[in-house]
This record gives sequence, structure tokens and C-alpha cells, in this order.
Amino acid sequence: MSAFWKIAVIGSGPAGFYAAGELFRQQSWSIKVDMFDRLPTPFGLVRGGVAPDHQKIKSVTKIYSRIAENENFRFFGNVEFGSDILRSDVLEFYDAVIYAVGSPSDRSLGIPGEELPGSHSATEFVAWYNGHPDFRGHKFDLSVKDVFVIGMGNVALDVARILAKTPEELSKTDIADYALETLFESQIEDIWLVGRRGPLQAAFTPVEAREFLELDSADVILEGGPLKLDAESQRILETDASKDTKKNIEILKQISEKNSSNKKKRVHFMFLASPLEILGNGGVEKIRMVRNQLVKRDDGSLRPQATGELMEENAGLIFRSIGYHGNPLADVPFDQNSGTIPNECGQIIDEDQDKSLRTREYVAGWIKRGPTGVIGTNKQDAVETVHRMLETFLQEKIEPRQQPDSSGIESLLKERNVDYVSFEDWKLLDEYETDSGQSQERPRVKVTSIDKMLEIIRDKKN
Ligand SMILES: Cc1cc2nc3c(=O)[nH]c(=O)nc-3n(C[C@H](O)[C@H](O)[C@H](O)COP(=O)(O)OP(=O)(O)OC[C@H]3O[C@@H](n4cnc5c(N)ncnc54)[C@H](O)[C@@H]3O)c2cc1C
Repeated sequence: MSAFWKIAVIGSGPAGFYAAGELFRQQSWSIKVDMFDRLPTPFGLVRGGVAPDHQKIKSVTKIYSRIAENENFRFFGNVEFGSDILRSDVLEFYDAVIYAVGSPSDRSLGIPGEELPGSHSATEFVAWYNGHPDFRGHKFDLSVKDVFVIGMGNVALDVARILAKTPEELSKTDIADYALETLFESQIEDIWLVGRRGPLQAAFTPVEAREFLELDSADVILEGGPLKLDAESQRILETDASKDTKKNIEILKQISEKNSSNKKKRVHFMFLASPLEILGNGGVEKIRMVRNQLVKRDDGSLRPQATGELMEENAGLIFRSIGYHGNPLADVPFDQNSGTIPNECGQIIDEDQDKSLRTREYVAGWIKRGPTGVIGTNKQDAVETVHRMLETFLQEKIEPRQQPDSSGIESLLKERNVDYVSFEDWKLLDEYETDSGQSQERPRVKVTSIDKMLEIIRDKKN
């Protein structure tokens, strides 16, 4: 029997699972995959990012669970790369490693007042309402009337929609219990979505935008009245615009023509505005913004430029949602600018003078290409990485290293007192969560504390 290639995958989000799936699809290779995640729960942002009222999207985890059923797959949850296991361990126990750790940080606005209480990143808020254990202790004061969400991408729209929905609408989702309780007390009336560019350049997708036309208890308003485009944007719309952009414009037109029905809340789409300063005495009170216009650059692109027209609005809460950013991993190259691991088709480029390629280290997903694209985008991305890895093995005539058995990593984790969670363990926790949800007609009630997760798993096993 041919020797097995042992591959470590760090991160159990979409990219990690698509990489594992592609590795198992290789008929002519015998491959074992050990997947590590710093959380006891798998699936990355599908559990901790995708909005709780988008349950259909979360059903992609069924595909990942099928991959996990492969007899050559093992999951090690609650194991953090960089502290519980190091690069040197991974290179000792495996033939190669794929880092698929995502982009968990956010970009800041870099404006005065950003650090005031009441100014948060959307990243924190999203992780909080989704029950991510690192964020369960965060506090968000929803007793204010005006909320500004800075950004016009899908995450910004998720935040605005969750704030605009009634707790009753959300009570049938898997939103964290503490978040639901806080939302029941919400006094929010006006939610402003602020984009520095124009409607044509909005980064959201039509599916997300359309949902605002159907909110039970919030009117949706396009600031500035009927949709107007500058001449160049109009020309692009009629010639080069993508299908999605055309659909976005159609939806924004519908929003602008919609009559107010005096609902309790309002969501305002405000284009061509940039925040300059957050003002307040001990907490967020106002936001100062400048009106932008679009100007054509030499390369033909349209860029926002401040006009000098200032606006100041009351704001009790501010969420910045202008993009995610990766974190460096110990002993792995990192490009601070892009927040990604430098790579060529998924193969890590070293930081030495020659910029040589590491033969046993690869990268997939957001940490490879940056925080863009939908869940499915990570599939082609991971496939490219896996193929690059196998081609490199062939070209460099690398042989699988003979390992007497697969228990080495388990012994190491035990030696280090790491309380790791297998996929079978996760299924026990999953069962507990879904059972708890049944009586409330919810898909699951999430357990949000790691200690509690481990306790439930222990209890169920005994
Ligand atoms: C708020 C939000 C909503 C979204 N909604 C949608 C949507 O509705 N539809 C859609 O198609 N796409 C959506 N996306 C995009 C989608 O979630 C991403 O494309 C996808 O999750 C990226 O996959 P990934 O595997 O690269 O990263 P992630 O999903 O972030 O997975 C990374 C994994 O690595 C683990 N990890 C990190 N560091 C370490 C470490 N040091 N050691 C061990 N493990 C580690 C993390 O715990 C995590 O499980 C959304 C994204 C966000 C942020």
C-alpha cells in the first residue's frame, strides 16, 4: 500500500473545508487531512459571520460535514496555531500545511473620535450577535435613536438589517440569546448606511439590497430624493455595468420611489459622504461628514473627492464596516498592507532575498486573496492551492515522509494539556444546540462559552 500524505489544514472555514474536499477528490493520491481550529466549533464565518436570518446560506455546512465523514479526516477543534501548536510542530508531523485562517480583524477609519465609547467595528457586532465566544462579553448600547453604519458592502447591510428587524422576526433564528435580549430593549429609530462613493459603485449585492424593500417594521429611504447619477456613472450604467450593478440601481430606484408608511424605524441609504470626525463628550454624540463628488481619474476610474460641504448629524452608535483584515501567524510571512500571506497560486512566498517559494506551506481563502467574495469563491481558490501543492510535490520529487502512526500530534496536544475537540465531539454539541432550539422553533440555540461547550461535550460522552 502506498504511503499516505499527511496534510494539516489550519482553519475550518469554507476555505479549509474546500481544500480538504479537493485533497480527498484526488484518485491517484492517498491523503490524510488533520484540520485544526482555534474554536471548538467548525465552519468559521458560516457560523460566526453569516447573518442569523440567512439560514439557507448556512446549510452549506452539510457539504462540509460530509467531507468530515471521510475516514482519512480528523478535526482538532479548540487548538490554536501559534500557541497550542507551532509551525515547527506542523512541519514535523505533516508533509505540508495549508493555512486557511481567514481575516478576523477590521480596517479602521483613521478619524478623530473613532475610539469613543459607542464607536465599534461591524466585525465585533457581527461576531457578538452570532455568538462568537471571543465577543460574547461585548456591550452595545442600543438605547440610542440614531445609528450610523459606515460602509456599503454586504456586511454593512447585514448590520443595518439586523438592527432594523423586530426581535420577533429574529427570534426564530440562531442569533445569540443575549443579543436577542438586547435587541428587545432597542430604542433605535434611524439607521444610516453611509457610502463614500455613488450608487453605481456600491459593493453590496442585489439579493442583500432587495431585502430592505420587505422589512416589516422599517421604511427604507434614499437620501437626497430620486436616484440621480452623474453623467459618467450614467454612461457606465448604459455601457459597461455588470448585471449586479444594473440590478442594484433598479433596487435603489424602487427604494427612492417608495412612499413612507410611517413604520417605527427607518433605514437611510446615504451615498457620496465620508465621515471626518466622531464627536462626543465621553461617548459618541455626533458624526461630522463631508459630501463627496465623483471625479474621473487618469485610469478612467471614478473616485470620490470631498466637496467641502459639511454635514453634522446626531449619532448614538457608529459601526465601521469598511473591510476585514488578516492577522499575521507566527513564523509565516505576512504582507501588512494587504493583510494577506504572500503567495503564488496558494504557495507561500518566503520573505528571503530571493523571494523563494516554500515547498511545504500553502494558503487558501481570505488570508490568501483578501476578504472578498462569497462562500463559493473559496472553492475555486482552495482548488487552485491544492493543485499547486500536488504539482510542487511532483516537480520537486518530494516523497511522503514515513510516519509510524497518526497519534503523534494527539500525544503532543495531550502533553500540552490542550483540551481538543474531535468532529464526533462537535456533533454532540451540534445535537445539543439543535435540540435546545427545537422547542423554540429555532434552528439552534448557540452555546457561546468555550468552557460550557467543553462541559456539554464531556457530559454527553459520559
Ligand atoms: C459578516 C459576514 C457575513 C457574510 N455573509 C455571507 C453570506 O451571507 N454569503 C456568502 O456567500 N458569504 C458571506 N460572507 C463571506 C464568507 O463568510 C467568506 O467568504 C468565508 O467565510 C471565508 O472563508 P475562510 O475559510 O477564508 O475564512 P473563515 O470563514 O474566517 O474561517 C477561518 C477559520 O480559521 C480559524 N482560525 C483563525 N485563526 C486561527 C489560528 N491561529 N489557529 C487555528 N484556527 C484559526 C477561525 O476560527 C475560523 O474558523 C460573509 C462574511 C462576513 C464577514
